[in-house]
Amino acid sequence: MARVFNFCAGPAALPEAVLKKAAAEMQDWHGKGLSIMEMSHRSPEYVSVAQQAEQDLRDLLSIPANYKVLFMQGGASAQFSMIPMNLLRGKKSADYINSGQWSAKAIKEARQYCEVRVVASSEDENFSYAPSQADLKLNADAAYVHYTPNETIGGVEFDYIPDTGDVPLVADFSSSILSAQLDVSKFALIYAGAQKNIGPAGLCIVIVREDLLGEVLTGTPTTMNYQVTADNGSMYNTPASYSWYLAGLVFAWLKEQGGVPAMNVINLRKAKKLYDYIDGSGFYANPVKMNNRSIMNVPFTLKAAALDAQFIKEADAKGLLNLKGHRSVGGMRASIYNAVSEQAVDALIAFMQDFAKRNA
Ligand SMILES: *Cc1c(COP(=O)(O)O)cnc(C)c1O
Repeated sequence: MARVFNFCAGPAALPEAVLKKAAAEMQDWHGKGLSIMEMSHRSPEYVSVAQQAEQDLRDLLSIPANYKVLFMQGGASAQFSMIPMNLLRGKKSADYINSGQWSAKAIKEARQYCEVRVVASSEDENFSYAPSQADLKLNADAAYVHYTPNETIGGVEFDYIPDTGDVPLVADFSSSILSAQLDVSKFALIYAGAQKNIGPAGLCIVIVREDLLGEVLTGTPTTMNYQVTADNGSMYNTPASYSWYLAGLVFAWLKEQGGVPAMNVINLRKAKKLYDYIDGSGFYANPVKMNNRSIMNVPFTLKAAALDAQFIKEADAKGLLNLKGHRSVGGMRASIYNAVSEQAVDALIAFMQDFAKRNA
């Protein structure tokens, strides 16, 4: 069967060139007679693959030398607990911005470990915008400020990096890392579950400023201690070795495409096409405030919700998959990550036009 156009929010589409390379190397990695996932993670071969992946990510995001890059497990959700465990450093409270469902989950988890002060929330307007800098009621004694630059479910993206003064800034970049240039030095910690814009599930990347490490909450599991993870090159225990390898193939692919700036040009073009069509259609709508519209996750509703099931059915038949919106918000959502081509977006728009015409 031909490859479909996959708009899944996660686990998401991977570049076809990466899948082909992984397939070619599957049974016999570089003439060794075994696959990379059957190899010891301590072998020189695997260690070189792992280190190259880290170096390529460092190159792609120009990660400064005083930041550690950790390849952890447990998904982005495990970071919701690891962050307070590792970053409270004796303090009693942390500030959180609530801009949607992933922020809310991070807040709920952090409440197990500290006092959480929600310093701004867009819940009043159904999470259809990102709070502005002026909205933030920051506390100078907070251990850190946490926010979600791109809310995957609501399709809401911050158009600025919060200025938190001397308080460390922590960001959940799960669904937008590598989609646009990023000044890593503005952050204390960046984390991203791999299955949106990096690679397969099972891996979560943590980029953390090294001076923040070393003081963990009593009872923190050793596998969740950033310092231990850093000291052991993310191999204190067996890492998600295949996911790490595949993430490395994606990083190499991104470099071949011209890196993050080149991807960003394509991403902006893809998103603009889709939003412009939605706005002008008179049939589809997106509820998010203009300047906060995500370039990665585009939720939209149809003129009548009664048409949703038919839309999904016809889209599926045309090879346009996983367009159903999150169960909590309904409607549709097209996730257009780096690996989703402009051709896929064009095919989606053509289908949407045709569907609208037939159901106007
Ligand atoms: C998907 C996602 C998560 C959760 O990721 P898991 O790996 O399933 O734990 C957290 N935050 C954001 C922004 C996400 O998109």
